[in-house]
Amino acid sequence: MNLYADIIIDIAHSRLDQTFQYRVPGELAETLEPGNVVLVPFGRGDHPKKGYVLRITDHAACAPEKLKTILQVETSLAGAESKLTALALWMRDYYGSTAVQALRTVLPFREQAAPKKKRKLVLRLPAGEAQEVLARCRQKHQTARARLLEALLAEPALPMEIVTGSLKITPSVWKPLAEQGIVACETEQIYRTPAVLRQLQEESRRSAAVGRQDADGSKAAADEHNAGGFRLNAAQQAAVDAVCSRWESGGGRYLLHGVTGSGKTAVYMELIACALKRGQQAILLIPEISLTYQNVIRFYHRFGDRISILHSRLSQAERYDQFERARDGDIDVMIGPRSALFAPFPRLGIIIIDEEHEPSYKSETVPRYHAREVARKRAELEGAQLVLGSATPSLEAYYGAQTGLYELLRLPDRATGGQLPTVYTVDLRAELKEGNHSILSRTLYEKLSGVLAEKKQAMLFLNRRGYMGFVSCRSCGAVLKCPHCDVSLSLHRGGRMVCHYCGYEEQAAKHCPVCGSPYIGGFRAGTQQIEEVVKGMFPEARILRMDADTTRGKDGHAEILRAFGSHEADILIGTQMIVKGHDFPGVTLVGILAADLSLHVSDYRAAERTYQLLTQAAGRAGRGREPGEVVIQTYDPEHYAVVCAARQEYEPFYEQELAYRRLSGYPPTGNLLAVHLAAPDEEKLAVAVDYLARFIRQIAGKYQALVIGPADEPIAKINDVYRKAVYVKQADTRRLIGVKNMVEQYIEINSGFSDIRVQFEMN
Ligand code: ADP
Ligand code: ZN
Ligand code: ZN
Repeated sequence: MNLYADIIIDIAHSRLDQTFQYRVPGELAETLEPGNVVLVPFGRGDHPKKGYVLRITDHAACAPEKLKTILQVETSLAGAESKLTALALWMRDYYGSTAVQALRTVLPFREQAAPKKKRKLVLRLPAGEAQEVLARCRQKHQTARARLLEALLAEPALPMEIVTGSLKITPSVWKPLAEQGIVACETEQIYRTPAVLRQLQEESRRSAAVGRQDADGSKAAADEHNAGGFRLNAAQQAAVDAVCSRWESGGGRYLLHGVTGSGKTAVYMELIACALKRGQQAILLIPEISLTYQNVIRFYHRFGDRISILHSRLSQAERYDQFERARDGDIDVMIGPRSALFAPFPRLGIIIIDEEHEPSYKSETVPRYHAREVARKRAELEGAQLVLGSATPSLEAYYGAQTGLYELLRLPDRATGGQLPTVYTVDLRAELKEGNHSILSRTLYEKLSGVLAEKKQAMLFLNRRGYMGFVSCRSCGAVLKCPHCDVSLSLHRGGRMVCHYCGYEEQAAKHCPVCGSPYIGGFRAGTQQIEEVVKGMFPEARILRMDADTTRGKDGHAEILRAFGSHEADILIGTQMIVKGHDFPGVTLVGILAADLSLHVSDYRAAERTYQLLTQAAGRAGRGREPGEVVIQTYDPEHYAVVCAARQEYEPFYEQELAYRRLSGYPPTGNLLAVHLAAPDEEKLAVAVDYLARFIRQIAGKYQALVIGPADEPIAKINDVYRKAVYVKQADTRRLIGVKNMVEQYIEINSGFSDIRVQFEMN
């Protein structure tokens, strides 16, 4: 039987899948698989080009004799690329995208920037023999050859710039010598190094030079620094042992649940060292916002030049080079945000995801993948270990630990021996009743005065995630919800309240439906107003503000953190940005201004995000020697997310939240597929989305799925493009993917969708 393969040739230049069919030669018939990287003849000159095998069939799309034949399977890539291609194809199927979109996400590809290469000519003969050749050249008056050989006898490796430059030697002169094996042209890869690492390399070179001068004294100090100056405590060691002892069997999956400040980083380092000892490589994902100089420096001190980092400010070329270095064995550890997951290491030993609950691990571009799920797939394909770490695990991860998907490892105490902070919860409704209309409750005001008097530091955190117009009552705290979906209604201009899941609408309320109070509306305070209020109350205090406005500059974010870290300010006011993983030992007070703002985002994850933000924010207090205090201000002090965060307890929160998810069919117990539609033509979009919803309802029975919508997206129009969505619920992902595949086909054959952008989103 003849086999044919659909192959994608050029992922750098096309955006859409354009496949070419090739014949599979007999010797590959047994072994060729989708995902393999192959060489194929391409174009008029039949130049060999790299291609990715998407599909193998026994059915030729045209007369078989017209098809060209695959030349060979690429094995020189050490398999890394083939495994990544297979991963990309899995992502295409699971998340819904074209193969090119998935391949471009996963594989390092070069858009224009060719890597800098340094070429040089080297002498291949021993000096004696070269002298003889030189003599012969002189005899024959081959002056150019003689000139080159003289130069090479003086300097056995010459950079090509010198050869072609000052020596004026053309390729027509040296190429014949190369063919005779007298000289050779060698290429040395020069990688662009991210600035932060360059700086660290410089510093360590300088201190090494100093170290040599004063002998072994400073070396001992350096060793101490490498180890972080402490031994792992029992819980940390147990976690490390659990992973390392079963490394052989491969593919272990773990969730490291450690309270804030429990020393998870030290565990990660030990695990990475474990991988390196076995000659394997490691990937550490951390949220972009924690990629601070202080964090990178810790890893650099331990692993030196074996690490590289990725971050969003790298140029495309720098980014590409880091992937090349990973592939070429120039580094063993890749640290970075979610895209670092695709480092093409030949022998990947472990993937670690720090702060695995962070929303930034979810990609917002197609394919809309989640790094946690893709990491699990990659670890499975490559037999690598997977470790997720968090103080506030996502429901998905903890549910996974409960159901045997992950093994749970715990760090129950702070590593420095410090206590978790004392938390006070303040009911803002009571404040209002007693005549305090200020943003600061009396408790927070008093504690802040105390901190300033004692010359310590405080952080004030405004939870801005809830900013998108939910409607609540300031007297009783009631929030207006959709009667069908249990998510809050959003206030739209024009005075209507809308549900973004099912499309339900009603007229905006003028009085609270629960208590009748007229104090009803959206909460509208921003960080800037808070800064003004606090300045008014404490004119002497030095205040820094960190939000999207003040961090716009290149290093704005790092500069604010540095200034606050060295106590150049007393109070840091900010949004989510200030709660992530920063370690400020001087901070003894954290104020959370309106804890429940994020509870009412129309998103089934609202309570989970709130719990995480509150716990992480509270965890910033008292990380030094002084014990910490936290004031949580809220309109909803009884909400379990607020209560559990105040007690710094995870499990009770998890139990309640899981019960809610189970009841309403949301992940992790259920699964949710969103089909997003967008188009500039509102009417066309409305017609298309109705057709689509009807079609999905028709097939839903077969897949036992529940269809919700269509409804406007939370932001119904961006840049004059209208946006709508249909949701499909079904616990079994395979069935959900079945629905997705049917929808993909339906859209492909239906001309009504030609001007409409359709995207899929899992959970
Ligand atoms: P987490 O990431 O779990 O919040 P970190 O890894 O940032 O915690 O560690 C918190 C602090 O505890 C750091 O300053 C770290 O140097 C310190 N630390 C970690 N492990 C130990 C240990 N075994 N003994 C003493 N201090 C430790
Ligand atoms: Zn009310
Ligand atoms: Zn609804």
